[in-house]
Amino acid sequence: MYPLMIDDAEQENNQRALTLSTWRMKSSRCTSRNSSRAQAVKEGKAVKDEPYYVCQVCGNTVAGSAPERCPVCGSPASKFKKVD
Ligand SMILES: [Zn+2]
Repeated sequence: MYPLMIDDAEQENNQRALTLSTWRMKSSRCTSRNSSRAQAVKEGKAVKDEPYYVCQVCGNTVAGSAPERCPVCGSPASKFKKVD
């Protein structure tokens, strides 16, 4: 009788721990990916692995590739300097 009760309690605890850790794993994977991307956008920084270009005329920064014309001052792409 007594050992059986311990078994039951252990099984119940394991099940609960398993459910909790699975849930935690899913939710943390999700939020870390979203928050790092959102943080980069919020700070106006280029997302990791993307080069960015700075307009030498007005200082406007564009991530990815230089635009044909600066959206702020209208300077051509040649005025953009790549920053690594
Ligand atoms: Zn500009």
